[in-house]
Amino acid sequence: MTTPTASATFARPVQGVYDAQRTVEGGGFEVYRPLPSAALDLLDPFLLLDEMAPTVHSPGHAVGAPDHPHRGFETVTFIIDGEVEHRDSAGNHGVIGPGDVQWMTAGDGVVHSEMPSRRFQEEGGRAHGLQLWVNLPSSLKRTAPRYQELPEESIPTVHGEGWSASVVAGSMLGVDGPAETHTPVGYARVMLEPAASVRVDVPDGRTAAVYAFSGAATVGANRERLAAHQLAVFDRSHGDVLISAAPDAETPLDALLLTGEPIGEPVARYGPFVMNTRSEILEAIEDFNAGRMGTIAATKM
Ligand code: MN
Repeated sequence: MTTPTASATFARPVQGVYDAQRTVEGGGFEVYRPLPSAALDLLDPFLLLDEMAPTVHSPGHAVGAPDHPHRGFETVTFIIDGEVEHRDSAGNHGVIGPGDVQWMTAGDGVVHSEMPSRRFQEEGGRAHGLQLWVNLPSSLKRTAPRYQELPEESIPTVHGEGWSASVVAGSMLGVDGPAETHTPVGYARVMLEPAASVRVDVPDGRTAAVYAFSGAATVGANRERLAAHQLAVFDRSHGDVLISAAPDAETPLDALLLTGEPIGEPVARYGPFVMNTRSEILEAIEDFNAGRMGTIAATKM
């Protein structure tokens, strides 16, 4: 934390800082995508990170991602602003709003839709959020789908000197996040006032990364500069993750801290399917085309 102790003063160096690329997803919304990119193909166990660009929609103009499948991994959606309605072929349905998280294990395969809620569609407003794809090991790629809805009030927030951290998954800063994960994964939103610092103890050998979505920071033992829409990847060996909000920043730092145990298996990906081999990808496409990932039940009006 902010007070160094004799046993945990070593801060990990940052091995790279990566720019997000802007691209268009789903029904036509813009995202910042730091992962994957030409420079950073995989951040094992993380496959993809999208920041849905902050956008103000007028009534009737919000957009989402209509029915589409996934197999072989998990999708984690964190809403900063706006309201998203989820439906899937496993029969799950939920609406998540600011501060809420949805942790969906696609596993063997689901078809889902991620759309603005009816209320948000009618009223319009600001939409902003994050989506992370977490890979599954080969032994769990065909596991049964699972849906976890984690409302803001279920997510513990730790407060320090000039900083706060909301821990969604994993054990960090003395608290446990509510998400059940298939492999060791840590997920926290960290907010720091300009010039404030936080140190987070991360187990040896874990992947660790920080994505800034507003403000600016210096990160790691080597004090690399991190601007908004950039991802800092730390050295995996050992030591704490050190994050300091830039003293000259005009806004607080708002960032996502990710940690995870690398899976270390081959990755074959094709659009919404992430498997270990090309033949498993072809099987996923066939299963989806044959309707074996199901369909979303018609909405009851
Ligand atoms: Mn999806």
